[in-house]
Amino acid sequence: MESLERFARSKLDDLAAQSLKRTLAETDRYGPTEARRDGRDVISFCCNDYLNLSHHPRVIDAAVEATRRFGAGSGASRLVTGNHPLFADLEARLARYKEAEDAVVFGSGYLTNIGIIPSLIRPDDLIVADEYCHACLFAGSQISHAKLLIFRHNDLAHCAELLARHRQDHPHCLILTDGVFSMDGDLAPVSELVELAEQHDAWLMTDDAHGLGVIAGGKGSSFVTGKKARVPLQMGTLSKAVGVYGGYLCASKPVVDLIKTRARSFIYTTGLPPGSVAACIAALELIETDPSLVAKPMQKARRFTRALNLPDPESCIVPLILGDPDKALAASQTLIEQGFLVTAIRPPTVPPGTARLRFTFTAEHRDSDIDRLVEAVRPHMPRPQDGVA
Ligand SMILES: *Cc1c(COP(=O)(O)O)cnc(C)c1O
Repeated sequence: MESLERFARSKLDDLAAQSLKRTLAETDRYGPTEARRDGRDVISFCCNDYLNLSHHPRVIDAAVEATRRFGAGSGASRLVTGNHPLFADLEARLARYKEAEDAVVFGSGYLTNIGIIPSLIRPDDLIVADEYCHACLFAGSQISHAKLLIFRHNDLAHCAELLARHRQDHPHCLILTDGVFSMDGDLAPVSELVELAEQHDAWLMTDDAHGLGVIAGGKGSSFVTGKKARVPLQMGTLSKAVGVYGGYLCASKPVVDLIKTRARSFIYTTGLPPGSVAACIAALELIETDPSLVAKPMQKARRFTRALNLPDPESCIVPLILGDPDKALAASQTLIEQGFLVTAIRPPTVPPGTARLRFTFTAEHRDSDIDRLVEAVRPHMPRPQDGVA
């Protein structure tokens, strides 16, 4: 046992020396944008609850009612007895909204990605992925044991080059991208990737965790042109703008049926609690029927970037790259002292030298709070001579 503790301590000391040790801070999110951290009341600018639906009375009521009716947990895997009647409603709604034939709901976005990829892709197949894809897309790729090639972020020419060179050596090929990149807030060129994928008989999967409920009137990154891009695998999470928990894949019926039969993170795990599924249904209904709510996160993000002369945001995620992990941590600390919760994002979540503050804007942020945040952030703005983007 001693070697185990020695191992853990020396690992932790190494990480601490590089300002890369992570610690959990208790956060009481008692209101839509309000939180209490270390005894201090703060406005959060780092939740992914973009529409603040986690605190919406209708969403909460749906969770409470379903919990009373069906119990606190689902009791088993969905393939045993965990498939309570609410799943069919949620899946039908997701499929309709994303204009797909069918949908399947998983326990989380992470479980969705590590389940889908190895169900579709075998060790002799090929995966071509954007370098900034979310960690769980890479985790799913590793589990598949397929050959994984990485293209430079949003670089279509590089992606095309990899496909031209390697596609013919593999029976199947999957192209992976985030629809909205979680740490940079920019959009993937989805329509162009559809073209490339079709030219090479590759299957495109977009991870729309940050798109649903925010981008293209709420329908997500496949819909930015106003018409659905032919993305055969649209996955996403129910944990961000939907405000609850869970993950989903929208795809054709045979693909969804295969996933339900094969994905290990669907089969060997307990179904989501009924309260969560009911809350997702209520939240999706709000997203589908309230365009003014869905427009708000982008409006709030624009107010912030315009005040600081930053480029207009492509989503409601706005990064401010400071370079050094210490700088990002210090800025985050100063902001919390002024009542704003903004996390510092450090490697390995982002590439070395690009530690940053990551701001997220949500529907219920008050303009006055955004204006105060702008003034608090101004002294931390990198100067050109700092040599960071
Ligand atoms: C958050 C996130 C996930 C994981 O979703 P969870 O439901 O939180 O597990 C997957 N992909 C992207 C791009 C994300 O930002």
